[in-house]
Amino acid sequence: MSAKRPSITARSEAMGLRMTQPRRVIAEVLQDSDDHPDVEELYNRASAVDAGISIATVYRTVKLFEEAGILDKLEFGDGRARYEDAEREHHDHLIDMNSGEVIEFVDEEIEALQEKIAQKLGYELRGHRLELYGVPKKR
Ligand SMILES: [Zn+2]
Repeated sequence: MSAKRPSITARSEAMGLRMTQPRRVIAEVLQDSDDHPDVEELYNRASAVDAGISIATVYRTVKLFEEAGILDKLEFGDGRARYEDAEREHHDHLIDMNSGEVIEFVDEEIEALQEKIAQKLGYELRGHRLELYGVPKKR
């Protein structure tokens, strides 16, 4: 699910954002993340690359990227905002309420059904967000 899309740095530059060194590092960390890190986790990863990066810088940078539409902000009901590259291939999320694990899935039937609902209501569907919350079944 990586590669192909233009990098976060390239997209930021194309939008005219000033890419300082800390922003570049944070962009690369996000680019390399296939999960849904929150600010604290991003800070851990970014400061491992460049110890000079502060958590305040991470906060400001993800806010900037989010406002520019480069990142999607996800809220899974635990009060922690998580982020992922907005250009990742479309998928939905299932949240394990016990472990907090986030499972990604795509279901063609759900995609088609949402399309149908929008049509029925007289709309052209431009996007959707679906979050399922569950606990593992006892086996
Ligand atoms: Zn995701």
